[in-house]
Amino acid sequence: GIEPTTQGTQDTQDTVKQRLLEKDRKHLWHHMSVHSDDPMIFVSGEGCWLTDIDGNRYFDAMSGLWCVNIGHGRKEMAAAAAKQMELLAYVPLSHSHVPAIELASKISGWLGGEYRIFFSNSGSDANEVAFKIARQYYDQIGQPNRYKFISRHRAYHGNSMGALGATGQAQRKFKYEPLGTGFQHVPPPYCYRCPFGKSTDSCRMECAGIYDQVIQWEGPETVAGLIVEPVITGGGMIVPPPGYLKKVKEICDKHGVLLIVDEVICGFGRSGEKFGHCNYGVGPDIVTMAKGLTSAYAPLSATAVRADLYDSFRERSGTDHFRHVNTFGGNPLSCAVALKNMEILEDEKLIQASGELGRRLSERLLGLSAHRTVGDIRTFGFAAGIELVEDKETKRPASAENVAKVIESCKQRGLLIGKNGDTVPGYANVLTLAPPFVTTPEEVDWMASTLEIALNTLPAGDESFLTG
Ligand code: PMP
Repeated sequence: GIEPTTQGTQDTQDTVKQRLLEKDRKHLWHHMSVHSDDPMIFVSGEGCWLTDIDGNRYFDAMSGLWCVNIGHGRKEMAAAAAKQMELLAYVPLSHSHVPAIELASKISGWLGGEYRIFFSNSGSDANEVAFKIARQYYDQIGQPNRYKFISRHRAYHGNSMGALGATGQAQRKFKYEPLGTGFQHVPPPYCYRCPFGKSTDSCRMECAGIYDQVIQWEGPETVAGLIVEPVITGGGMIVPPPGYLKKVKEICDKHGVLLIVDEVICGFGRSGEKFGHCNYGVGPDIVTMAKGLTSAYAPLSATAVRADLYDSFRERSGTDHFRHVNTFGGNPLSCAVALKNMEILEDEKLIQASGELGRRLSERLLGLSAHRTVGDIRTFGFAAGIELVEDKETKRPASAENVAKVIESCKQRGLLIGKNGDTVPGYANVLTLAPPFVTTPEEVDWMASTLEIALNTLPAGDESFLTG
């Protein structure tokens, strides 16, 4: 819960806070909001708990932005960073350095196959790299017309012109177009509001089959790759039906199209396995990763490419290398931090913990499914989406006002949750949870009961539907 600070230091703290707020209002451009006149200013974190400038403590149920998988305040991470910084600050990756070598080898090992690892700074970068490598690969093997990528509506793949082109969320794109071209979108595997009008009984997994049709309509000789997250996380926690990813991979193989799996959120234990695709028994051609790679202690991302694809670059080495450089990508500090992060995930068996905590969370959330405002609950590993509705029958999405009330009510009780949406255009009605893997079982129960209390604060009945 929220604890006030001790009285003695209150005055000076208030002054410090006011000064910071003034500067914040004047100079800081916040992400994802129009104005933050009263932002929460955080000063420290320990495990799952964040402390703000007033000394209030909050449970970080979103691990920041789905990223602080090992939890906050790890002294070992700080020590690894400091040690590396003292030893070697930087060399470009046209040379090599020890942490990059060790990390590339470790990531390849986690992927359980032979992969080549290209380092960048962010998830967006990693996806840009994937697209560029795929296009150059096809050019090098004599299929230069394969330039298109197929993605899904509701998917998020990043903020840069190419990655935003791949993104299937119109509301994030329309102010910035034209974006990178060559990206097609198919409907998401969104069972609760099936884009194909199917129910569980009548489902023929049209959401996977559509790729086959679209590739044929586009001309297979023009398609380089598909990009998918194992589950669509930021776009509304959209969990595909069983067998979906396998079928998608079969369609890729049928048409010689590369399968790019975006593991930026699902990777590094979030799914209860090392990577999200491991839950579906599918081996991707290219895997992109960021966030949980360092648990956000330092910026780093990676694009893992099947070794035999890389061979087409190696054969041309010296003439047609991959003409993509980024200064900070794979810098020694970030690589050392990532190595320590992966070591912690292994040593503390946090990936298994994530799976177990996820099962407990699913069970506890099931208790909310009868609630009048809960339309659908979707979980994947230690992540959950709770889709709120005004009316269960019509599935009319909960209003922005009601969603905000639930989030605020959780916050008042010391629980920071997320929301996303536009699964129905104009509505952000999916509450999200993706806590650090050091959450205790009791904290899982507390999250579910706090959510229930928050949901109960919503007005009964369906007044907004009747009047609106
Ligand atoms: N892919 C996915 C699935 C993501 O969720 C995100 C970020 N939320 C990105 C890519 C882009 O990552 P970044 O913000 O590090 O550029």
